[in-house]
Amino acid sequence: MNTEEVKALYDKYLMPTYSPAMAIKKAKGSRVYDLDKSIQYYDMTSGIGCHNAGHCTEGVVAAIAEQAAKLGHCSNLFMNDVTPRLAKKLVEISGLGGKVFFCNSGAEANEAAIKLARKWGAANGGRYEIVTMRNGFHGRTLATVAATGQSWCQEGYEPLPVGFNYADFNDLESVKAAISDQTVAIMLEAVQGEGGVTPATEEFMAGVRALCDERNLVMICDEVQCGMGRTGKWWGWQNYSVKPDLFTSAKSLADGVPMGALVSNAKFADVFTPGSHASTFGGNPLACAAALATIKIIEDEKLLDAAAKKGELLKAALQSFAEKYDKVLDVRGLGLMLGMVVDGDPKAVVDQFRAFNVLALTAGGNVVRFLPTLSMTEDHLEEAVDMMSEALDELWGE
Ligand SMILES: *Cc1c(COP(=O)(O)O)cnc(C)c1O
Repeated sequence: MNTEEVKALYDKYLMPTYSPAMAIKKAKGSRVYDLDKSIQYYDMTSGIGCHNAGHCTEGVVAAIAEQAAKLGHCSNLFMNDVTPRLAKKLVEISGLGGKVFFCNSGAEANEAAIKLARKWGAANGGRYEIVTMRNGFHGRTLATVAATGQSWCQEGYEPLPVGFNYADFNDLESVKAAISDQTVAIMLEAVQGEGGVTPATEEFMAGVRALCDERNLVMICDEVQCGMGRTGKWWGWQNYSVKPDLFTSAKSLADGVPMGALVSNAKFADVFTPGSHASTFGGNPLACAAALATIKIIEDEKLLDAAAKKGELLKAALQSFAEKYDKVLDVRGLGLMLGMVVDGDPKAVVDQFRAFNVLALTAGGNVVRFLPTLSMTEDHLEEAVDMMSEALDELWGE
């Protein structure tokens, strides 16, 4: 099949929730290949941050094949020897000392966090409200859309679940003002992804932690995008001096295999009780084997340090674009989660980059977002930067 035939099938049989740019045939490492033109692209999207370890990484491919041939799924009515090993690993690399609930996506992981906070709140003063940040993003289920607090993803879906109050990110006074007697939790991303690649300030993270301690609230970090090594630490919140009570992971957790997780500290480890929450596929051996292999690659190849180091390289390159072009207003982010704020529509820049064989993302209303694989080599990164430089010369040069 060629792209035209694929597109005809999409148009006829897929609900039009997306507007995909092109068809991809295969991927390897930090490269993806166009379906019919055999064009090779540098992938600075990692499938929207789902391939931090790299595309089709040998260790993950082998782990999936091996596990699929042995035991793919057995339901949570039975134990297996893979799921608890992953839970142990996640607790270890978080240092939170609690327990894990597994599910299949970021929205579901956040739903689990919301349900856990509510269940705890019900038993602790009958509280249920959760304060979330404007410009945050937490998923597309009804509750996580309500948590997201942005009209573009809420319109047409009312009535939404109640119990969410919005505050301004990096504005502690605004968070204080959003807290009521009903409040049970504060939920935020350490680095807002979809909202525009905006890192929390240390003052804000520490302030949210202090508020949670003072008011007996659950601090929840949504690590779906900024976790799994993306910022140069396992978890985005590890760039700050404080720890959340709960955090969620998905996207890169199993390097392309759909998976989500909620991780708690010791205090919240046993709030869920038998039967109080569940997921049929959650933590099945196949996904867990992929996640264990992903974590092993990140450890063996020292991809946390690599993300920090290559993040500096890419940031410096983006800053040189900012010096060269008035249209680049700002460069921000942490590690290999970077945003270039532009004057105008970021999609025009993303389209131009694609014409020069580099794939990037948009975020917020005016940000070009970069989420390359953490394993992208420095040579490839430099080559991609050169290609982007040429692309911008054509777009904005005299
Ligand atoms: C992508 C994302 C989600 C939603 O994850 P899904 O797997 O699409 O449900 C939630 N939170 C953040 C921060 C995300 O980036």
